[in-house]
Amino acid sequence: MTNFNETKALFHLPAGVVYLDGNSLGPLPKAVMERLDQVATREWGEMVITGWNRAGWIDAPTRVGNRIAALIGAEEGSVVMGDTLSIKVYQALASALELVPDRRVILSDTGNFPSDLYMAQGLIGSLEKDYTLKVVAPEDISAAIDDTVAVLMLTEVDYRTGRKHNMRALTEKAHAHGAVTLWDLAHSAGALEVELSDVGADFAVGCTYKYLNGGPGAPGFIYVAPRHHGKIRPALSGWLGHEAPFEFDLNYRAAAGIDRMRVGTPPILALAALDAALDAWDKTTISDVRQKSLELADRFIAGVEAQCDMLTLATPREHEQRGSQVSFRFEHGYAAMQALIENGVIGDFRAPDIMRFGFTPLYIDEDDVDEAVRVVAEVMRGALWDTPRFKKKSKVT
Ligand SMILES: *Cc1c(COP(=O)(O)O)cnc(C)c1O
Repeated sequence: MTNFNETKALFHLPAGVVYLDGNSLGPLPKAVMERLDQVATREWGEMVITGWNRAGWIDAPTRVGNRIAALIGAEEGSVVMGDTLSIKVYQALASALELVPDRRVILSDTGNFPSDLYMAQGLIGSLEKDYTLKVVAPEDISAAIDDTVAVLMLTEVDYRTGRKHNMRALTEKAHAHGAVTLWDLAHSAGALEVELSDVGADFAVGCTYKYLNGGPGAPGFIYVAPRHHGKIRPALSGWLGHEAPFEFDLNYRAAAGIDRMRVGTPPILALAALDAALDAWDKTTISDVRQKSLELADRFIAGVEAQCDMLTLATPREHEQRGSQVSFRFEHGYAAMQALIENGVIGDFRAPDIMRFGFTPLYIDEDDVDEAVRVVAEVMRGALWDTPRFKKKSKVT
């Protein structure tokens, strides 16, 4: 079993704060500061342009991709880093649609993150054929999979409620109907066991600034099942996805393997930060993290429900059906979250009425949960949120 006191010591956590928002932005791993300093001074500073070869910058997207692959049950050489998650959704969806050329339906659900749906809408707008994005309620997804569906595009764990889809069952059903699957792992990678290869998923995408602690704006990742590598045409055919970028050929030829999903120059400083952040996983396993996260979340739910009957649990109680966040509905959730933050418990708010709390055992322990329950009870029972300054919305909620 993991020693979570050891993993907690790896992070810089702001004083006087219980940080329950690692599902939105992971905190700073101490190793990142040192690594950034090294890469900036020794590599960028001393090697300048030769760093692409001498420090191996050019291979960083696949090198770091392989570390992510190990956390999501993906084959070596099937994950590459780069760009933002939204762009990776676009790329994956465009390639997925081309694998099923005779169909026109993209199926998704209302629990998906808006950017994923927006990217699909944008892509459809630039395709000549009459594609449709069909969006149903999460509980109706399975029944909506039929022989018209080209791509089933879902986020495994709902960013608002924490409800988790059954990736295996839905992938099997999609395949039985001749559809291709695209899974968004934004709230899965680093939070729970994912078995992409075993499940037979076709495409997956994710970000690394949430549970993987890569820092604000850390690069996204894309997974393509090896059986599709040779077949897919990259819609964003940038030079670093070319078979031979330094031949400067005027015509695009896709690189072999997952490299064809690269686009342009990779963000070396951001990849270095992420790489250092991933060292935390050398001290633990995803199954230990998952188990402990469920324990912490259960403790929080029990504590809050015992004291705050104005809060309604929005997250499924069954372990199998949830990710690693706990959400409560409350009409004045935005103001209540601001009051919690002022009192040292950081979670976040998602419209219209969701208060979210993430349980990330790498740096959250039982004492943190008990302190959070105490503060939530104090704020809610005393209606400490009911003051004008907590009701004025900031740009980022
Ligand atoms: C966080 C999140 C995003 C954000 O995408 P970016 O391009 O990284 O801003 C997209 N989709 C899901 C499901 C998310 O949870």
